[in-house]
Amino acid sequence: MPWKDPKHAQAYFILYRLEHLEEIRRYDRERDQLPHRRQAREEYARTHRASIRRQRLKAYHSSPEIRARACANAKRWRKHNPARHLELTREWEREKRRKRPYYARIRVENRRARHYGAPGELTEAQVVAKFRAQRWRCALCGKRKKLEIHHIRPLKKGGSNWIRNVQGVCHRCNRT
Ligand SMILES: [Zn+2]
Repeated sequence: MPWKDPKHAQAYFILYRLEHLEEIRRYDRERDQLPHRRQAREEYARTHRASIRRQRLKAYHSSPEIRARACANAKRWRKHNPARHLELTREWEREKRRKRPYYARIRVENRRARHYGAPGELTEAQVVAKFRAQRWRCALCGKRKKLEIHHIRPLKKGGSNWIRNVQGVCHRCNRT
């Protein structure tokens, strides 16, 4: 028997696999659907979430083909799971608002400044530092409320958009 000879065994094994490629593939696929293997896969996915994500991200950035395939898969998934997609999008937006509460507003203020031709550009770090220096109290009434970006000298009256012309003011004081 040739496969009993260790020298030939490997060659025989490779040859066997080549000759039975389709059959082996079908067998592997079927085996992958067995409950205990499914369970093991799910378990692995649960316990190795971070490293799987890292690996996928690496693959995604490593080749345009992989990226194109991933995009197509994501698109198909979105099409088949519209409700879940909406839910995830909202969750993501909520998370972003929680982590970077002034992000959107700063962009609006910077755009307004450009519109009025006012010099200066605000950053999130500057605004957060300013509000923290006020100990999160309204610069006008001193109450501890959610602060809004307020230009001391208004942009439309020639005020700058530099942080020194900005203070944190509560919603109520910002209106009056
Ligand atoms: Zn106030």
